[in-house]
Amino acid sequence: EVMLEVKDLEAKIAATGQLILKGVNLTIRNGEVHAIMGKNGSGKSTLSKVLVGHPDYEVTAGTAVFKGKNLFDLEPEERSHAGMFLSFQTPIEVPGVSNVDFLRMACNARRKSRGQAELDPLEFYAYVMPKLELLNMDPTFLNRNVNEGFSGGEKKRNEILQLAVLEADMAILDEIDSGLDIDALRDVAKAVNSLKSADTGVLMVTHYKRLLDYIRPDFVHIMQAGEIVKTGDMSLVDQLEAGGYATLSMVDE
Ligand code: ADP
Ligand code: MG
Ligand code: MG
Repeated sequence: EVMLEVKDLEAKIAATGQLILKGVNLTIRNGEVHAIMGKNGSGKSTLSKVLVGHPDYEVTAGTAVFKGKNLFDLEPEERSHAGMFLSFQTPIEVPGVSNVDFLRMACNARRKSRGQAELDPLEFYAYVMPKLELLNMDPTFLNRNVNEGFSGGEKKRNEILQLAVLEADMAILDEIDSGLDIDALRDVAKAVNSLKSADTGVLMVTHYKRLLDYIRPDFVHIMQAGEIVKTGDMSLVDQLEAGGYATLSMVDE
């Protein structure tokens, strides 16, 4: 079953009109893990953000179908309710809102859209505790304001906690490994692996093999100048680690 099908996707920066995505094609089926690699500035984060409907970008051509629905007909919030999740490369702080309130609100919005009853604070506590444990996060994180004063690694763990709480169908993880120490990387990877199922899709943007050694991708894509120019398996990553992007015979920019 196809979860996400992106065809000939082009997108520009709304403010400047600069075209960034120049015809992206990508098909993710239920149960698959896809990795996207590529040099800085090749458009990986832009693709991630366009898929969740970030207002900085405008789709100028192409289509995307997510779980049978035309993705670009859905508001960003509707995409989230439909089960699409993006972890931010730089998670934002939300001063004045406690993490547990934020998580419960997000969780209940998703539950509501699935026709499930909302969780009251006590029920939510029982629901979230095992997820904190999985991520080796101290329960005191629940009572702190969203990401406020969190270290880089703690922010990344908190992103995955959000993913776990939302039970997203499609997880787009943009450089979740950046800034993580060895233990945090293992915890985050363990959590992502435990959230994976035959009904979920994962799209991971990363620069490094170490994340992919923990969360094994079925497909590895190389992005260059706004296009996916090569697709393969883990052996592509080994080639990259050995010789850099120059060793992959790709089209010139
Ligand atoms: P990657 O994630 O692969 O490193 P990005 O998708 O973040 O690359 O960026 C692709 C290109 O688009 C870069 O040259 C970047 O500077 C530019 N870009 C992306 N978003 C914006 C924006 N909101 N405003 C201006 N330039 C942007
Ligand atoms: Mg970058
Ligand atoms: Mg990026």
